[in-house]
Amino acid sequence: MTAYEDLAGAGDGTRAVRAGLPEAVKYEPTLPGPVFAAHFHLPGSVEGPYAYGRDSNPTWAHLERAISELEAPGEDVETLVFASGMAAISAVLLSQVRASDVVVLPDDGYQVLPLVREQLQDYGVEVRTAPTGGDAQLGVLEGARLLWIESPSNPGLDVCDIRRLVDAAHAQGTLVAVDNTLATPLGQRPLELGADFSVASGTKMLTGHGDVLLGYVTCKDPELAAKVRRWRKVVGAIAGPMEAWLAHRSLATLQMRADRQTAGALALAEALSKREEVRDLRYPGLPTDPSYPLASQQMVRFGCVVSFELPDREWAERFLARLRLVDDATSFGGLRSTAERRRRWGGDAVAEGFIRFSVGAEDPDDLIADVLRALDEAQDAQ
Ligand SMILES: *Cc1c(COP(=O)(O)O)cnc(C)c1O
Repeated sequence: MTAYEDLAGAGDGTRAVRAGLPEAVKYEPTLPGPVFAAHFHLPGSVEGPYAYGRDSNPTWAHLERAISELEAPGEDVETLVFASGMAAISAVLLSQVRASDVVVLPDDGYQVLPLVREQLQDYGVEVRTAPTGGDAQLGVLEGARLLWIESPSNPGLDVCDIRRLVDAAHAQGTLVAVDNTLATPLGQRPLELGADFSVASGTKMLTGHGDVLLGYVTCKDPELAAKVRRWRKVVGAIAGPMEAWLAHRSLATLQMRADRQTAGALALAEALSKREEVRDLRYPGLPTDPSYPLASQQMVRFGCVVSFELPDREWAERFLARLRLVDDATSFGGLRSTAERRRRWGGDAVAEGFIRFSVGAEDPDDLIADVLRALDEAQDAQ
């Protein structure tokens, strides 16, 4: 029953289970159910929080407050939820940049970013790209209106020094947005590292059950937030109340899921590191990983995604087909482990045998035994 302001200094688990809960009211539920409403009673003046369902909804309001509390504990920030991660990403980019502005994107980020790039170019925006690793985006930053960071990058798991990039960007008046999907707010807090926007797909680990599409934008500056809000109204890419409620319900277990899945990912990465046929193993939480020195400075949990290469396409396909506890499916962050041969989509610049593996909440021993058996069988069937 403690007001949320008092929880800013509490542990992640405490904050996760109480995030965004309204004040206790006798006979009311702890987390009020989804409000299904296209319009609200509105006699007389149109002032007030709820008028029309495209602009606001009480179920969003609870979830938005919850995400704000996790992204920026104790800070006065604004969160806006969207129908998907892409709706949130588009809302930031397309509400903040204009024709002839320069935008810097990563060239190894989420696979839809090349389409975003084309869209921006169609609108007369100049787009520059550089890899995430080695802070290479610094080299193309000059005169940019907005820098888009994805750290760790999906699917290559490179990490950049967010604060260093933010400092360089802000020194020349460039806005910075960070895609926080892979880390989640319990893994990394971009606003504390100085970013103007933390943007994420809630479809992945944030909600974690593989049954909801959702996105959000969190930012500090009310003027920037107002532009994103206007964009949401104009485009109408809003979250359904049911999705918003499911997401809020799922947030209560975020710390448990993140701890469990992160520990499982580290254990899997350690097991894979001993296999000869496994190459280019990446996990930012593995102390031998090139991302580890930076990741361990700016992240507190390293996520549940492990990536690696098997010798060729057929080998990778045999491995995936022989897994029993792991679904061959895209996306990541769910309670049930998934893995896929990423090249099948054609988008990412990865090898034919590249596997993106998302560790779920299975017992790590069971999961690792399944993976090692599948690797053995894939090798024997060569
Ligand atoms: C999945 C993903 C997105 C897009 O989110 P959707 O909810 O699928 O629209 C954006 N960024 C990253 C890093 C992602 O993994």
